[in-house]
Amino acid sequence: MPQCSKCRSTDVMHVRLTLRTGPVLFHHCRGCEHRWWVDAEAGDRIELPQVLSRVAA
Ligand SMILES: [Zn+2]
Repeated sequence: MPQCSKCRSTDVMHVRLTLRTGPVLFHHCRGCEHRWWVDAEAGDRIELPQVLSRVAA
């Protein structure tokens, strides 16, 4: 289960999106509004600019 890295809440919404380079997971913490992205295949955390560059690629 995803956990927020800021407030440790597990009340996290996640949505799977498929970009040209592969699937990513968008997470949104309902506790503190923290948002982050994870590469669904590699499991690595990715930053928003990287997500945008993948969308634009
Ligand atoms: Zn949080």
